[in-house]
Order: sequence, then C-alpha cells, then structure tokens
Amino acid sequence: PLHVSGIHKKFGDTEVLRGISLEAHKGDVITLIGASGSGKSTFLRCLNLLERPDSGEISVHGESIRFRMTRRGREPADRSQLERIRTRLAMVFQNFNLWAHMTLLDNVIEAPIYVRGVPRKAAREQGMALLERVGLTERAHAYPAQLSGGQQQRGAIARALAMDPEVMLFDEPTSALDPELVGDVLEVMRELAAEGRTMVVVTHEMDFARDVSNHVMYLHKGQVEEQGNPAEVLSHPESERLRQFLAPRG
Ligand code: ATP
Ligand code: MG
Repeated sequence: PLHVSGIHKKFGDTEVLRGISLEAHKGDVITLIGASGSGKSTFLRCLNLLERPDSGEISVHGESIRFRMTRRGREPADRSQLERIRTRLAMVFQNFNLWAHMTLLDNVIEAPIYVRGVPRKAAREQGMALLERVGLTERAHAYPAQLSGGQQQRGAIARALAMDPEVMLFDEPTSALDPELVGDVLEVMRELAAEGRTMVVVTHEMDFARDVSNHVMYLHKGQVEEQGNPAEVLSHPESERLRQFLAPRG
C-alpha cells in the first residue's frame, strides 16, 4: 500500500533526510529505529505531508502524490488529494493528541461523521466497537484529561482506526507513558499487526521490533544505515554504529 523513494528534507542548511526509501506491502510492520535526531519523526511526518519533502516520491495504494514548485519550495499540488492521503495514512503521536474538549467517543467519531459523512448513529456504534477493541468501553464518555496516558493512547489508536486507514504511522507511541502503561498499548498494536494492518512504527521498544515487525530500518543522520529482517539485524548487526546503539546501556 505504501511506496516511498528517495525522500530528502532540509531545514535551513541542515539536511535532515538524505534519500530514504521504504516499501510497505499489505500486512507489513516496519519499525524505524535510530538515535535522537537521526530523522525518524521527520521521515514519518513527510509520509503524510505534515512536512513537505524537498524531493522524493510517495505513493499510497498506487496513487502518487503530486507536487508543484512554489517560491516556498515543493508543495502538494492538490488539496483534495492531500486530504485523501492523510486519511489513508493515519498517524498516532507520542503525546496522544486527542481533542481535550471532546469525550473519547466524540474524538473517535469526529472524522467519520465530518470527513466521511457517516450518520451519527452508525458512527457511534462503530466508535463503541472500536473502543471495545482497545479495552475502553467503560471510558467512552470520559474526557482525555480524565484518562491515563495509556488509555489516551489506546483512544488515539481507536480514533485512527475509525477511518480504516491503509497504513498506520506511529511515532514513539509508548515513550511518553509510565512503564506500567506501556504493555497495554503494545498489546493493542500487536493485535493490529496480527490482523494484517500495515504499520510503520518509530520505536525504542526493541522487543516489539524483534517480535512484531517483519522489517527494521536503522536510521543514522538521515540515511538508512542498515535494514532487514529484525531477528537478523537486531541480533547480528553489521554496522558497528548499530551494534553500539543496541548495546545495553547503564
Ligand atoms: P528523536 O528520537 O529525538 O525523536 P528523531 O530521529 O525523531 O529524534 P527528528 O525529530 O526527525 O529526529 O529530527 C531530525 C533533525 O531535524 C534534528 O536535528 C532536529 O533538530 C531537526 N528538526 C526537526 N524538525 C525541525 C524543524 N521544524 N525545524 C528545524 N529543524 C528541525
Ligand atoms: Mg522523533
């Protein structure tokens, strides 16, 4: 469903991404690992155009994103295409990003109702089913501030699922959580993987990368330094830098 090639991105004079490519087929779970500042978030944000890549190609389910040159640089050429791509590539952020003034259920049904035009009653039924899947039936009418971080993140996953995205993008979904809350979120992500969801996941959870993903990419300074089968790459890294990165610290 996702084909990305040669993504470059500069902030000012700093080249943050230096030609990254990625291929995700249906059901693939790809993990991105790498040191802080290596460009993981920027790459993920380029995929759904929260950042504009300076060059490179992105296509989702066979549809290439069209760009045009402006004085500010390369911009998506077509607003409605941009909206369509965004709903196909749902993003789950480190800090949950639920709308604070809405209940959890309202967060989940907002896009189906207002973007897709699903009738409210059907959207609520679907929303409750999604909340049940992530174990939050009882919290449906709570506001985000009344939920634990882990509950908020599972709610954010339910919200992303509500648009039935082609690919789900996760940017360190568990790194803002207290350790005891991490497991529930990873469990939900494991289930999504088992159901055949296509996912691209930036993570520091090496067990997740090893057990759940079928491809791991190690980024260093905006380039893929090593990639491949997680069991092989994580157990027998060829790159000395990756070996250092994986070495137990402390
Ligand atoms: P972390 O593990 O800390 O989240 P990361 O791999 O996600 O790191 P990025 O956030 O992609 O790294 O940042 C890559 C580089 O780009 C960093 O040097 C960062 O300072 C720089 N950068 C990111 N966003 C911007 C921006 N909007 N303007 C300028 N520089 C930026
Ligand atoms: Mg990041």
